[in-house]
Amino acid sequence: MVRFCQNCGKPVTFQMIENRMRAMCEACGAVFYEHRKVSVGVRVAVDGKLLLVQRGIDPWKGRWHLPSGYMEVDEEPEQTAEREVKEETGFTIKVGRLAGVYTYADDPRGNGIVLFYDAQLVKGDFTVNHETMDAGFFSPQEIMKMPLAGTCAERSINEWIAAQQTNEVFQ
Ligand SMILES: [Zn+2]
Repeated sequence: MVRFCQNCGKPVTFQMIENRMRAMCEACGAVFYEHRKVSVGVRVAVDGKLLLVQRGIDPWKGRWHLPSGYMEVDEEPEQTAEREVKEETGFTIKVGRLAGVYTYADDPRGNGIVLFYDAQLVKGDFTVNHETMDAGFFSPQEIMKMPLAGTCAERSINEWIAAQQTNEVFQ
């Protein structure tokens, strides 16, 4: 939440503006609108196993997550997907179809919207960065026993698992 004016540095006050309490600066008149953060998550599957990363930092340190992260201001979502997977696992991917779009309100860093993409693994030289404790490919049976991070990733992972099980019926 904004406490000081980002234009002139004076403390803000909270006033009813356009049907909501919003931070505004009485000194310069600026109004600060809050927006959802935009992020991208990626489902990379190989031979019926899904790539998950174990978070090395809070929130959800130690829990498992899809490779994901915030979109930079000049990125297309597919670029964010490629960059985040590269940063968190070292893998090169080819981004495929949009798998889902969800909002969330369970992240202490702020409410957001996340776009999930399915992707194919192109090249795998596994290296993790400081934000990642571990990573690997896991079967639906393994994933169901793992502690997951965040409602959105959990939802997208569960949809992936459900799709695997549907596929198995037809194979
Ligand atoms: Zn101001």
